[in-house]
Amino acid sequence: MEYYLPEGTYDKSIPTPMDVLGYNPGDWHVSHDQLVTYLKALDAASDRIEMREYARSHENRPLFNLIISDPSNLARKEEIRMDHLKLTDHSKSDQVDITNLPAILYQGYSIHGNESSGANAAIVNAYYLAAGQSSEVMHTLKNTVILLDPCYNPDGFNRFASWANTHKSKTLVSDPASRELNEVWPRGRTNHYWFDLNRDWLLLTHPESQGRIKVFHNWRPNVLTDHHEMGTNSTFFFQPGIPSRTNPNTPQLNQDLTEKIGTYHAAALDSIGSLYYTKASFDDFYYGKGSTYPDANGCIGILFEQASSRGHLHESSNGVLSFPFTIRNQFVTSLSTQKATAHMRKELINFKRDFYKKQKKAATSSKIKGYVIKDKDKVKLSSFHRILSSHKVDMYALNQNISAGGKQFKKEDSYYVPMDQSQYLMVKTIFEKVRKFPDSLFYDVSAWTLPLAFDLTYAEVTNTVKLGDKVTSINPSGKLHSVRGAYAYILDWKSYNAPAALYQVMNNDLRTKVINKPFSLESGVGVRKFNRGDIVIPIQNQTMDLNEIEDLLGGIAQDYQVDFYGVRSGWADNNMTLGNPEVDKLDMPSVAMIVGEGVSSYDAGEVWHHIDQRYNIPLTMIDKRQLFRADMSRYNALILVNGRYKDLSKSEFDKIEEWVKGGGNLILFRNAIDWAIDKEIINLEKAKDEKEKSTVKSKYQQSAAANGATVLGGAIFEAKIDLSHPLCYGYDDDQIALFRRGTSLYETPTNSYSNPVNYTNNPVASGYIPRGFDKKAAGRAAVTVHQSGSGKVICFQDNLLFRGYWYGGNKLFGNALFFSSIIDGRTLAKD
Ligand SMILES: [Zn+2]
Repeated sequence: MEYYLPEGTYDKSIPTPMDVLGYNPGDWHVSHDQLVTYLKALDAASDRIEMREYARSHENRPLFNLIISDPSNLARKEEIRMDHLKLTDHSKSDQVDITNLPAILYQGYSIHGNESSGANAAIVNAYYLAAGQSSEVMHTLKNTVILLDPCYNPDGFNRFASWANTHKSKTLVSDPASRELNEVWPRGRTNHYWFDLNRDWLLLTHPESQGRIKVFHNWRPNVLTDHHEMGTNSTFFFQPGIPSRTNPNTPQLNQDLTEKIGTYHAAALDSIGSLYYTKASFDDFYYGKGSTYPDANGCIGILFEQASSRGHLHESSNGVLSFPFTIRNQFVTSLSTQKATAHMRKELINFKRDFYKKQKKAATSSKIKGYVIKDKDKVKLSSFHRILSSHKVDMYALNQNISAGGKQFKKEDSYYVPMDQSQYLMVKTIFEKVRKFPDSLFYDVSAWTLPLAFDLTYAEVTNTVKLGDKVTSINPSGKLHSVRGAYAYILDWKSYNAPAALYQVMNNDLRTKVINKPFSLESGVGVRKFNRGDIVIPIQNQTMDLNEIEDLLGGIAQDYQVDFYGVRSGWADNNMTLGNPEVDKLDMPSVAMIVGEGVSSYDAGEVWHHIDQRYNIPLTMIDKRQLFRADMSRYNALILVNGRYKDLSKSEFDKIEEWVKGGGNLILFRNAIDWAIDKEIINLEKAKDEKEKSTVKSKYQQSAAANGATVLGGAIFEAKIDLSHPLCYGYDDDQIALFRRGTSLYETPTNSYSNPVNYTNNPVASGYIPRGFDKKAAGRAAVTVHQSGSGKVICFQDNLLFRGYWYGGNKLFGNALFFSSIIDGRTLAKD
């Protein structure tokens, strides 16, 4: 511990990591349960610490804060917390006396689980604050309340600790070729479902983020830190990042204060001789990251990046990098943050107060007064509302009908989100479409317009409207609308959870059919129009009798918030009957996905998360290495996400091809399509590149910007869908938003039945795109379907399940799983 700690006296009654764990930080990678054990021991021994669990990870590991402050502050912590909440309310903030009000500092570590110096430094930090007797420690404890979050991502962190420790030798090995320093797929960066939790601060798909944001808004910290690692040959980075890549909604004063705090980090790193830099990389643009989310909430978010030792020792261009060295840099900058926060206490508190006053002014003068939204699907709406309310954004019912953006919104089924509320900036960033950018380089996505992602009908409102009650929650429900002596039940496919419900029906061995031509029929709720995609469950000749079927469907209706409508006859209008050939038999999907080295773990994780969490369908993830022995006859659907598949052997490829031609349903995403083209599984052509020849000679110094300008890191595209195509069943209108990354495009097949989804003629809805790409993409196919033998190949160029929040694309994916077998092969160009 002497290596890390500043000189001074330390309380002997406080246990050190050695006392509890039997080793010093840096000797081993602390596992998550050891970390919990040690911090619990500190909590028990110290009157400066209160430990609070705030969530459980997917793997049921606790996420928690240590609330650390002077015991006298802890005794009045509720009062301190309430004062900080008041500071965000412009009408009450002047009442707060800040003379003795401590600042709130949220210190968080290792959101990327394999960037482990952070969480290991958190242990040293907690010990220092619990045991330290110096005037510096006392000053920090008096003037701040620290919310120490030792590990933002317990599941990924534990995966990595296990890897590094498993391969550690007694005689440390620093050779970069060593297995210890080269983790295998999917690595420890991400959480259980392989999501990057440091992109989830705005989207809140995962329990880790949901719990953390709750704590954030419970305390409204003044400073929040996010300790990461970067490439082994770098040094140490702290924010501010590249000035031109700051979100334009973030006030300049935020960046100025970040820089002022930076002088404390510089002094601390100077004192131990560590190299560092600032401003030369990393941005502050996407509000879904840990160091940027605070900036939209009157708080200073700070990113730290330490060159990674990966394992315990690693050769680097700055000499041999040891794990303890990386921990020490994270520790000293944790201390410099504490010092800065304590010294700049009043400045930071006033910044927050002024931030919310200015928000109020901006809200009042905003040309846009609010946004009106509607959607028939309560499941989608409730998820959308959950995100808004987690960010303390208020949504209201309407007290009048509104006409806006050429659309009608009835008060009965529409909602309104006003600009004039304390979270004005969050409303703005959640709803706005952005097409102008000060810079062309993005560390992450350039657009995240949530109502587009959710495929909601919405419009800007420029006049004031009469508000109804504030919405506290939206509770979707579903029902079996029974009839006496039912002939069949019909499931409404428009509901978000319909695919999950259908799978439950199939899993109970009931035969199901799908409607391919709309009709009206007398049902349990009167005459009802049934649409393409609605699912028919006939009563006759099933393995259950009518009562059992009604019990089962009634339970599914409740569990999945879907509606089943009973009908007493198959005789419908529009020349339809339920026994008509245009009501097709369906097969239960049995799904596999290829994973492993070379496959994008993010994209694979999104499929896994969606099928597992949203559909409750078992998904077999076959590692590339096991493909040779897999029995493909067990599956009728195989998914290949964005990734490299060239390394599959000839016999592995033959196996897949034979399976498709024998009737399999192959679903391909993004560059898996290129693999299928190369292997001639499908007949599709890459778009001919019409590169404009530049006549201007570029200077070497412009190269980074020029390369960045050609990257499409993530933008929102609009597409038209053919509502009569099985892949597009269940959508209400023929326009959807797709999330696009990358610039691959394909020649549109001449057979229009094989391209049911096409970009519009002016396709870019929001986000940065390379110059001219909108024209290139205009009108092109975004989804194509191909026949291969008696199987089908469905190609999605975009990410339909992006980060678990792209609800609008989900139905296309569900349709691909359930309906591929009913796509009429005669409509598709032969391969
Ligand atoms: Zn990181």
